[in-house]
Amino acid sequence: MTHASPPPRSSTDHRTGFARVPVRPFPASPGPARRSPARLGLVRRLLAPIALLTVVGPAACANDAPVYDIVLSGGRVMDPESGTDAMLNVAITGDRIEAISEQPLTGTRVIDASGLVVAPGFVDLHQHGQTDETYRFMAHDGVTTGLELEVGTGDVAAFYAEREGGQPVNYGASIGHIPVRMRVMGDTGDFLPADAGKDDLATPEQIEEIAGRIREGLDQGAPAVGFGFPYTPAATDEELLAAMSVAGELGASAHVHTYGWPDGAQYVIDLAEQAGAPLHIVHANSTGGAATADFLAVVQEAVDAGGDVTTEAYPYGASQSRIESALYDDWEGWDDARFGVFQWGATGERLTRESFGRYREQGGSVISHVRTEEMTLTAVANPLTMVASDGGAQVSHPRSTGSFSKVLGKYVREDGVLTLMEALRKMTIEPARRLEAYVPMMANKGRIRVGADADVTVFDPETVRDRGDYTNAAVPSAGIEYVFVNGVLTIEDGEYLGTRAGRPVRR
Ligand SMILES: [Zn+2]
Repeated sequence: MTHASPPPRSSTDHRTGFARVPVRPFPASPGPARRSPARLGLVRRLLAPIALLTVVGPAACANDAPVYDIVLSGGRVMDPESGTDAMLNVAITGDRIEAISEQPLTGTRVIDASGLVVAPGFVDLHQHGQTDETYRFMAHDGVTTGLELEVGTGDVAAFYAEREGGQPVNYGASIGHIPVRMRVMGDTGDFLPADAGKDDLATPEQIEEIAGRIREGLDQGAPAVGFGFPYTPAATDEELLAAMSVAGELGASAHVHTYGWPDGAQYVIDLAEQAGAPLHIVHANSTGGAATADFLAVVQEAVDAGGDVTTEAYPYGASQSRIESALYDDWEGWDDARFGVFQWGATGERLTRESFGRYREQGGSVISHVRTEEMTLTAVANPLTMVASDGGAQVSHPRSTGSFSKVLGKYVREDGVLTLMEALRKMTIEPARRLEAYVPMMANKGRIRVGADADVTVFDPETVRDRGDYTNAAVPSAGIEYVFVNGVLTIEDGEYLGTRAGRPVRR
């Protein structure tokens, strides 16, 4: 699959409706000068004189030029859907992008975006953290929509009810086979299965109940169905097929943490085909491991054969999971040396056989340093992979705070393994498209387009970078200067405002 972009547009007036007029290029960015004097120099409030005499809100000047709520002036607008890559002005009124033009636009407020990239807000399909703290880090990382689609929730109605009234970014959760199975089987774990949910075979009646609860979750508006096969090893092919067939029947995508190499990719592709479900394979990097290139080749083969199959990766070499989960059920048979790759999330200490056993009794988040940079690079650079963080509610892995900025800072700017447009495609239009057939509201996200939701991320391509690490993950990314969620600023001049304009993403 190739992703060649059309050449940059010289004009966008066919979309904005403005008359075509001779192009007057924007002056080159003055660079650091735009930062001086601090905020006052960055943000100008321009009130059109005649608009002052009329009503507040969208108004017209005497010459009928519209006055928008906000104009982002002179930024490098990059939209992977259309291929637009040009110095343009973008106007927002209310919660929508209202105009994109080479000509000056009039706004109640004008933000000088010169020297900055104006991109669609990033869409993260895999973010377990759905809390005030994690939403704040997402916004600092340029994410305007953060969805928990892998593990998901067992109670879709309650998930959305708890977040009613607005969140800092757009949010949502799938109905998850894991939490549904935990509930049906009577598991005592608090996030991933710790006992019956991973160990016990389901009876035919229980399989029917699992499928029924997944259907109920979709009826309640869940945007997808989540699975994590390695966390539910007692689930049979029959159970997984019954659960996934509900997704297939209704047209929802299945977001699956599948088994590792060599069988996991083909297994889930075959299962999804049988179930008739669109398939999204989560974290090809950690599931593929040393065989990531081969793993992605299997996915590519399915895509080439016409399968509706997508995948994602996060740009870090360490994994993170729960120490009590089924992933580590065989821990007592390991060599002593293997324990050293594990780092306890709460303290940062490296583990031994003794401490691993002790923490497994207690339960909690553990980081495992298991992949080389070459493996990460293979996953991030492959055209198939979207960027998705797999961030956690406990912010102890830098992927929770810096996945998107790291791709832009390291893999685009420093290493040059992706173009900026390719990276943005992986963060915006591709995740939006993954969902939009079943969740129509996603067709207005991931785009800088007139009529699209005003989810917009404005960043400095020269400074954007993750700043968290494995001893101190809870550090916001650098270089994300402005973030709009449904037309409302949540990051302004790099500072978090705590606004709550984020809405539920649901069918
Ligand atoms: Zn995950």
